[in-house]
Amino acid sequence: MFVSEPRRPRITARDDASILHADLDSFYAAVEQRDDPRLRGKPVIVGGGVVLAASYEAKARGIRTPMNGHRALRLCPEAIVVPPRMSAYAAASTAVFEVFHDTTPVVEGISIDEAFLDVGGLRRIAGEPVDIAHRLRARVAAEVGLPISVGIARTKFLAKVASAVAKPDGLRLVAPGGELEFLHPLPIERLWGVGEVTARNLHEHGITKVGHIAALGETRLRTILGPAAARHLYALSQARDPRRVETGKRRRSIGAQRALGRQPRPLTEIEAFVHGLIDRLGRRLRTAERCCRTVVLRLRFDDFTRATRSHTLAHGTDDTAVILAAARTLLHEARPMIQERGLTLIGLALTNLVDADPRQLTLPLTPRADNTLDTTVDALRQRFGSSAVTRAALLGRGEGISVPLLPD
Ligand SMILES: [Mg+2]
Repeated sequence: MFVSEPRRPRITARDDASILHADLDSFYAAVEQRDDPRLRGKPVIVGGGVVLAASYEAKARGIRTPMNGHRALRLCPEAIVVPPRMSAYAAASTAVFEVFHDTTPVVEGISIDEAFLDVGGLRRIAGEPVDIAHRLRARVAAEVGLPISVGIARTKFLAKVASAVAKPDGLRLVAPGGELEFLHPLPIERLWGVGEVTARNLHEHGITKVGHIAALGETRLRTILGPAAARHLYALSQARDPRRVETGKRRRSIGAQRALGRQPRPLTEIEAFVHGLIDRLGRRLRTAERCCRTVVLRLRFDDFTRATRSHTLAHGTDDTAVILAAARTLLHEARPMIQERGLTLIGLALTNLVDADPRQLTLPLTPRADNTLDTTVDALRQRFGSSAVTRAALLGRGEGISVPLLPD
């Protein structure tokens, strides 16, 4: 069985700084300030119970994501809290990625508001990387109305650090040869892999700057952090990061979840939520032209414990009915646990994803004959919005908040 893989551009380490890391600033909050002039220049919190995003004015007051909403309002009582508008963010993301893809064919999306762009090899047609970055920022501002920061360097790691240093609404070039000079004065928290625990550990040893890690050496760092973390952080402190920009990296699973609150719910109602989640996931699966083989059910209980159950099918499928049957079986098997501990969150993931290839159809060889309902419902939702058609059992319950994601 041969499946032709699209040839991915492979970019090796380079001599010139031509990797861009472009990252929208306070994305959700910036969209809110763009769309409502009254919010501009003010501390804005997107979210409610939890802070999903904060404008720079709010961040200046110490508000961070994710932070409890009450705590955020104690820090900054005059902050304006707005509910998230995920569809507006998804639309803004699409528009920004159009600019990215217009800038270079080699785009590696990291999340809905962030991507690496390789502009090496564009010099003759588009100019120096720094000019390309200036134009990119200007276009995102003019066409999408959002501030975006860009870092430019020889490696992905440095480009990402540079965009973070450039924020808000800035551009930072790390010129070849100037990497260590740029990196060493920065706080260790700028390095990938330095979380709260590692940072505290290093601080106790008087290590606060990236340059301290470089000066200490890998051997002595190992006695503080262990071999794996020492190797990783020492390499970064030397600005060594050989990864290339990869496009066409495909998701290995897709998932969705729904919080249920703490009130007890009958199994029929939980089943209805499962239907809703499967409908959403099935649509994403078919839009991405993929099939799944494994269905994973995730449960969180009232006592904060969790359980995961999975079922692997004999063949890959994108058929809602087949996926739903597997999910219902898992749910029924978990019934005693749910009754005993009380369910507060239900999640589903479709994994073991493969490309939907017509040559891999299972018998009977009638391409998607039994998928006509799925196809029709997908088309209706595509045209009239995701709430145009819903299961009767879900009427009045809405879809819950779904966070926009990169294309699958
Ligand atoms: Mg961002």
